[in-house]
Amino acid sequence: MPIPMYDHQPSSGRPLKRMPLLKAAVLFIVAVCLTLVGLLYLQLDQSRRYDLEQAQVASQNLTRAMAQQAEDTFMKADLVLSSLADWIQADGYGAAQVPRLQRTFARRVAALNQLHGIFLFDRQGQWVVTSFEDLPRGKGVADRDYFKFHQQNISSQAHIGPAIRSRENGEWIIPLSKRVNDKDGKFLGVLMAGIKMSYFDQFFKSFSIDDNGSMFLAMTDGTLLARRPFVEAQIGSSLAQGEIFQKWLPGASSGNAMVSSMVDGVIRLHGYRQLDAYPLVVSAASSQTAILKRWSDTAFQSSMIVGLVVLGVCLFGWVFIHQVRNGERIEADLRAAQETLELIATHDSLTGLANRRLFERALDIEFGRGARQASPLSLIMLDIDFFKRYNDTYGHVVGDHCLAEVAGAVKACCQRKADLAVRYGGEEFAVLLPDTDLRGAKIIAEEIRQRVMGKNITHSESPTGYVTVSLGCYSFVPNGRDSIEVFIGRADAALYQAKHSGRNRVAVLSMEGAEEALIRSDR
Ligand code: GH3
Ligand code: MG
Ligand code: MG
Repeated sequence: MPIPMYDHQPSSGRPLKRMPLLKAAVLFIVAVCLTLVGLLYLQLDQSRRYDLEQAQVASQNLTRAMAQQAEDTFMKADLVLSSLADWIQADGYGAAQVPRLQRTFARRVAALNQLHGIFLFDRQGQWVVTSFEDLPRGKGVADRDYFKFHQQNISSQAHIGPAIRSRENGEWIIPLSKRVNDKDGKFLGVLMAGIKMSYFDQFFKSFSIDDNGSMFLAMTDGTLLARRPFVEAQIGSSLAQGEIFQKWLPGASSGNAMVSSMVDGVIRLHGYRQLDAYPLVVSAASSQTAILKRWSDTAFQSSMIVGLVVLGVCLFGWVFIHQVRNGERIEADLRAAQETLELIATHDSLTGLANRRLFERALDIEFGRGARQASPLSLIMLDIDFFKRYNDTYGHVVGDHCLAEVAGAVKACCQRKADLAVRYGGEEFAVLLPDTDLRGAKIIAEEIRQRVMGKNITHSESPTGYVTVSLGCYSFVPNGRDSIEVFIGRADAALYQAKHSGRNRVAVLSMEGAEEALIRSDR
C-alpha cells in the first residue's frame, strides 16, 4: 500500500546517497588502473625509443668503422697499383724488367695483409708477371669483366669488380684493377690486385653482433662482395632490389633503416654508409629482437608487476563495491522495514485507512498550510447507521467485513493526493479535504453516501434494509490560532444533526457555526 503524503516526517531523515560513492569508487579504480597502465606504457615507450636510439648510434659507429677499414684496404692497394703502373709505363714489362717486377710485386703483397696477389696482364689478358713464383698457365683473363672494362675505358681510375675465385689458388678475391698505358697513352695491359675476401671476413668477425645480425660490403650497384655470416652462394648476388639500395641509399649516403627481411622475415636495424672514395657500400644490421632483448625482458617484468597491481586494485575494488552494495541492500531493507513500521503505526489494520495518529499529524500540517495560503479546509465525519444492530444481527466478523467495505467506499471518493480518509473510531470515519470548501466537501460526502448505498449491504434491522451512513461536513479557512478539537467537534455536530434528522444523509455546518443546514438526501 502506498504511504500517504503525511507519512513523510521531516525527522525521519533522507536515505544516504550511495550511488555517487559507488560511481566514485568505480571511477577511482578505473583511474588508478588507467594511470598505472598509462605510466607503464610511457615508461616502456621511452625506454624502447632510448634503446633503439642507442642501437642507431652503435650502428652508425660500426658502419663508419667498416667504411674506414674498406676505404683503407682499397686505398693502400690502389696506391700500390698506381706506383707500379707508373713504373711499368716508364720501363715497360720486357723480359729484362720481369724479374724485378716479380720481386716488387711479391714484396708489396707480403707488406699488405689484404693482398692475395698482384697480377700484370698484357694486351691479350695473358699473365706477364704475378706476385707468385710461377706464372699460371691457362687461357688468361681476357674474359674477365675488369679486363674488358680497362680495355674499353682509357680512364686510369681504379676499378673494383665483383668477387671472383682466383685462378691461382681458388681463393675468393675482390679484384682492384688499373689500366696500364704505354708512354703514348695506348693500352699496354692491366694491373690487378686481388683483395682477399677473408680479410674482410676476419675484420667483420672482430665485431660482436647478434646471431641474427649481418654485415656486408657491396658495390653501389648492389653486387655483394663480402658478407658476415659468409654464405658462399650469395657472393656476387645482387642486393639491388633490397630496401637499402632501392629506398634508403638514393636519399642519403649514410643512415639507419629498420627493414623487414624479404628472405627470413626478421626485422633488422640497418646502418649503411657509402664510401667517399670508391663505389662501395657497407652495412651492418642487428635484429630488432636482439636490440630490444633487454627492453622486452624489462617490459615483461614491469607488465607482470603492473598487471598484478592492477589485479589487486580491481580485486580490492570488487570487494569494496560488494561491501557498498551490501550496505545499500541493508539500508534498503531497513528503509522498507521502517516504512512498514510507519505504515503500521499510522494506519488501521482492518480498513487500511489512516488512523487517528496520522489524522492528527495531517491536521497539524493542513492547519498551517491553510493559514499560510488562506485556503479552506474541510472535514467530513461519518458514522454507520444502526451498526450496533448490524453487529448484533450478523456478528462481529461480518461487522468487520462491513467496516472494510464502507472504508473502501470512503477511500474511493478521495481522489486528490492530499485527501485523507481516516478510521476515526469504531465505526466512525473522517475525511480531511485540504483546499476544499464546504460545497466541495458536501459533494464528496454525498458521493460517499451514494457509494455506500450502492454497495447494497443488506441490513435487515435498518429501516432502509441496507447499510447506510450519516455524514457531517464542516469547512473553514484556518487562521493559525485554530483548535483541532473545535474543528472536529463542529464536523461531529454536523454528523449529530444528520443522525437526528433521520440518518442516511449529509449535514453541513457552515463556517460561522451559527447557521446549520440540513440537506435531505435525494433518494
Ligand atoms: P447510530 O445509527 O446512532 O450510529 O447507531 P449505532 O448502533 O451505529 O450506534 P453507535 O454508533 O454507537 O454504534 C457503535 C457500534 O459499533 C458499537 C459496536 O458494536 C460497533 N463497533 C465499534 N467498533 C467495531 C469494530 O471494530 N468491529 C465491529 N464489528 N463493530 C464495531
Ligand atoms: Mg458510532
Ligand atoms: Mg453508528
